[in-house]
Amino acid sequence: MSIVVQEVTKLYGSQKALDNVSFSVKTGEIVAFLGPNGAGKSTMMKIITGFIPPSSGSVLVNGTEVSSDDPEIRKKIGYLPENNPLYPEMYVREYLSFVASFYKPGRSAKENIENIIGLTGLTPEAGKKIGALSKGYRQRVGLAQALIHDPDVLILDEATSGLDPNQIIEIRNLIKEAGREKTVLLSTHIMQEAEAVCDRIIIIDKGVIVADEDKNTIYSKINQGKQIIKVSFDRKISDNELLSIPNVSNARLTDKDFWLLESDSAEDIRPAVFSFAVKNNLTVLSLQKEENNLEEVFRHLTGM
Ligand code: ADP
Ligand code: MG
Repeated sequence: MSIVVQEVTKLYGSQKALDNVSFSVKTGEIVAFLGPNGAGKSTMMKIITGFIPPSSGSVLVNGTEVSSDDPEIRKKIGYLPENNPLYPEMYVREYLSFVASFYKPGRSAKENIENIIGLTGLTPEAGKKIGALSKGYRQRVGLAQALIHDPDVLILDEATSGLDPNQIIEIRNLIKEAGREKTVLLSTHIMQEAEAVCDRIIIIDKGVIVADEDKNTIYSKINQGKQIIKVSFDRKISDNELLSIPNVSNARLTDKDFWLLESDSAEDIRPAVFSFAVKNNLTVLSLQKEENNLEEVFRHLTGM
């Protein structure tokens, strides 16, 4: 099943949360919807799942237009909302049966619930109250309720936020597993998450799509951009001296006596930094390439 978003704009009062957004997700793809807080990710997901209407534009799921009063859409889509609202007083198994009953899955309902409990690793916790679970397990319950009716499309809004590193890996693996058979759109503000889970990355900033590319294409674009080296020396030195290093276009001192050296060249500047240190009788205490974090990606893609 595919998702097609056509020229969607969403206004909250006079604020444009989404500005003429168009993209599509093909059957079987896992796509990341990446952007900083406030970019419009949750708004887009609420529109795709029919929870709120767009101000203009439309969303098609498998060719059918989504509208907020169509209950059929809920059957096709599994949705993990951002704050994963759950009933803390309900028991896990009871809650999942309750959710499943909305979809009338028929006689296999009970077996199906047990399958999902197994798939999401909830077996040891299934008899507990939701309110008693750790954040990681609550997130699994959220994922289980999104999967319970075996939807073809999964919409996951910040599925790993607030989890510890081990839980993040487990939930990402679950998503990848589910994504083998389903069309998945997941939102995140974390570049590494998009990279770890997805085939394609759509970047949204201030309600506007600024990139929509295959993962490898995005990375090759970034690598053609700025290169940043973080270096520290055993004594103080001026930015003017550092700017004499070939290809270094900018030198900034951070609060902890680390220099950030920028280069627009594709050539690795680290050897030149070492030669510079030797020539000036400096000792290099540390030297590392800065990873391209989300901020760098944005600066590169939005030209800011
Ligand atoms: P993201 O999920 O990327 O963090 P959101 O879609 O939640 O972004 O929000 C996008 C923008 O729309 C933000 O500026 C937010 O404050 C605003 N916004 C979101 N929901 C509402 C609402 N119900 N009423 C008014 N403004 C909203
Ligand atoms: Mg959000």
